[in-house]
Amino acid sequence: MAARILDGNKIRDEIKQELAEQIQELKASGITPGLAAVLVGEDPASQIYVRSKVKTCESLGLYSEKIEWPADTTTERLLELVRDLNSRNDIDGILVQLPLPPQVDSKLVLEAIDPAKDVDGFHPVSVGNLVRNRPGLVPCTPAGIIEILRRSGVAMKGARAVVIGRSDIVGKPVAMLLLHNHATVTICHSRTQDLPGVAREGDILVAAMGKPAFVTGDFIKPGATVIDVGINRLTTEEEIREIYHDPTGPLEKLKAKGSVLVGDVQPEDAREKAGAFTPVPGGVGPLTIAILMSNTVRAAKLRRGMRAAAKA
Ligand code: NDP
Repeated sequence: MAARILDGNKIRDEIKQELAEQIQELKASGITPGLAAVLVGEDPASQIYVRSKVKTCESLGLYSEKIEWPADTTTERLLELVRDLNSRNDIDGILVQLPLPPQVDSKLVLEAIDPAKDVDGFHPVSVGNLVRNRPGLVPCTPAGIIEILRRSGVAMKGARAVVIGRSDIVGKPVAMLLLHNHATVTICHSRTQDLPGVAREGDILVAAMGKPAFVTGDFIKPGATVIDVGINRLTTEEEIREIYHDPTGPLEKLKAKGSVLVGDVQPEDAREKAGAFTPVPGGVGPLTIAILMSNTVRAAKLRRGMRAAAKA
């Protein structure tokens, strides 16, 4: 039987609908949550991300401020900016779009963000709160993955979960969240022995490695839930023929659009072997910005001592 597709766009829309209601309630009590998005330099992908984050803020009725600075901005200037944003009461969330230019000390800048406004969840204090399972701000993509599982009725309690990838942005935090949801978690990386064998133990398999279609059928336990975090762009016929068993559709897409997106999981194998899986595009990706908005609302509540409300 073909696997159930976990529709990230639908879940994103549900979350946005719920957020819009919460934002209206906050506004009725005189609070408009605000997000500052800091973009340094002219990286085209970063420009697109920041633009769509600001657009989503606007569509939900959040206050947003886009701060665009030139590529030669110094660490000192950015630290001053972050300190200023930390002190402003109309700003609940500060997002510094990565990557920053090479002359900037990214770590220093990210660590200067007030943890109460750390909507990306990358600050060491946020990491500590996550590890301790205390209220705080959680990185967006991992939180989005949990929302997909939760809202799709995938049982985490007692499940064997295997995460491929140990980055600070995806692998480690999603493993921690799965653990807090009572899964038994294994984290794999480039030195893991017998990766397919370990992956096959997963009732839930999360692939976050950045390697196009690396996870093939022999990594997937029949009936498992497969979460594909990878976003890889294929631009040549050779790449497509190498990856797909039936390359007809992707080749047509390549002709029409110039590129094809594929995750870290071979999609035809996932469809055949998994019980449920997130497609690329349209799976995990759409959740990331929705959770950023959710984190901004949560930060606005937490900063004002509305701890119980922020739990919802
Ligand atoms: P990183 O490059 O930071 O980390 C990749 C991880 O995968 C590393 O831990 C690495 O292991 C592991 N890995 C790489 N190759 C192998 C291999 N052959 N076998 C086993 N493990 C391997 O990537 P990110 O975590 O930042 O991102 C992962 C993917 O998710 C990327 O495709 C990225 O584009 C995508 N992404 C998608 C988002 C979304 O919104 N959907 C958001 C963020 C990322 P080691 O540590 O040993 O090197």
